[in-house]
Amino acid sequence: MCKESIFSFMVEKYEAIIGLEVHAQLLTNTKAFCRCSTSYSLSPNAHTCPVCLGLPGALPVLNNRVVEFAVKMGIATNCLIREFSTFSRKNYFYADLPKGYQISQYEDPICYDGHIDIETGDAGETKSIGITRIHMEEDSGKSIHDVDIDTLVDLNRSGVPLIEIVSGPDMRSAREAYQYLSQIRQIVMYLGICDGNLEEGSLRCDANISVRKKGTEKFGTKVEIKNLNSFRNVEKAIDYEIKRQVETLENGNEIFQETRMWDAGAQQTKVMRSKEFAHDYRYFPEPDLGGVTVSESMLESVRSTMPELPLDRKRRFANEYGLPWYDAGILTETQKLSEYFEECCSALITKSKERYKLISNWIMTEVLRYLSEKGITISEFPVPANHIAELVEMFASEAISSKIAKDIFPEVVNGESPKELVERKGLLQISDEEVIHSVVEKILAEQTENVLKYREGKKNLFGHFVSSVLKELGGKANPRIVTKFLQEKLN
Ligand SMILES: [Zn+2]
Repeated sequence: MCKESIFSFMVEKYEAIIGLEVHAQLLTNTKAFCRCSTSYSLSPNAHTCPVCLGLPGALPVLNNRVVEFAVKMGIATNCLIREFSTFSRKNYFYADLPKGYQISQYEDPICYDGHIDIETGDAGETKSIGITRIHMEEDSGKSIHDVDIDTLVDLNRSGVPLIEIVSGPDMRSAREAYQYLSQIRQIVMYLGICDGNLEEGSLRCDANISVRKKGTEKFGTKVEIKNLNSFRNVEKAIDYEIKRQVETLENGNEIFQETRMWDAGAQQTKVMRSKEFAHDYRYFPEPDLGGVTVSESMLESVRSTMPELPLDRKRRFANEYGLPWYDAGILTETQKLSEYFEECCSALITKSKERYKLISNWIMTEVLRYLSEKGITISEFPVPANHIAELVEMFASEAISSKIAKDIFPEVVNGESPKELVERKGLLQISDEEVIHSVVEKILAEQTENVLKYREGKKNLFGHFVSSVLKELGGKANPRIVTKFLQEKLN
């Protein structure tokens, strides 16, 4: 056996246990415990006050939107919502944390014991992943390390609200972790509580990974990996770490509980520090804040604002519109795109699954291509949904050919109604059977020699007859009817 196959044989004996901790930066206007703006600022420390600077004696006041957003996420992930929860201080020292502690939740997180479905196949197969807890906390500031001018600290981000979503140890592969993270990202975006940007750090992901021999119950020693700032890195880092742990154990060595980081350049995980334990932080109840009460009426009002969630919408698109699972996935990737699709469908005069599929094709090819060429989102797309419906309706009913539909699309994007355009330019397809029939007869009468050759076996002349008829009718004849008459006459 070669080295690679010996190794995959080794990996086969093991099972990976993966849990993810996801931090989502909440889209509130102001910070968690003061009224400073959360908006991005080019000037460092512009959005700060005594509370988020951590000056002694300054008192935090909880922003209710933070609670509302956390509860929203809790409901979306089937969690139990705690009626009364508290804040704690998580103590540690760092230059970008002037208070010397972070306000977080410890023993009684606001949401707990939930689950979400993730997709495990291409045809809608799912697996349930537990959500252990969701708690509220504040972000720290940012240290900017510069070799020339020491380290600078920017506290604009200090006190910006986060929720931390902790999954159960339920994932078994890098692929499942990837699917879980995509699902969480889609949910927070559908809820409008986080912009979901991994690269810019509004969504941050740490992974806990251990391996154990298949068939055993006891978990192995877990390692935490930080700095997974893209979907690619999540998959690669987890795959790498699983292999590293298996190899370590197979070589008779020990796994240490530690925190590692993914080095994308070197394509490997590296030790950052030995793992800290909860007791290292000396958590204690935050004395400056009362508890958080979630009343029945608040729960009701949050429930009433819950949107349809991404996976539910995907399932509905597949059922209601009869779309392939793949199409349903693309169209529900963002809420806005899925809304656009539904607007197009409801603007159709003839409502049928065939036409819904044509709308789906049109959006997935022409519309998405246009968006990516222009670098814009569907919200900025200038064509009203009823124009897409009009266009699809015209070629579905054979009023125009699909080639003409594509040809006029740039003008449709410029704002003209497809119907008016087609009329103005005289592009209506000729489907009048009498007209086409007489042209077919004329062409065959003119080309008696070719007809003879065709009947003697030169069957590839058929295409030549079709194009002659189409040419005679200015390229606008319905090719289906042309073919039908030619077949009748020639065979
Ligand atoms: Zn402040």
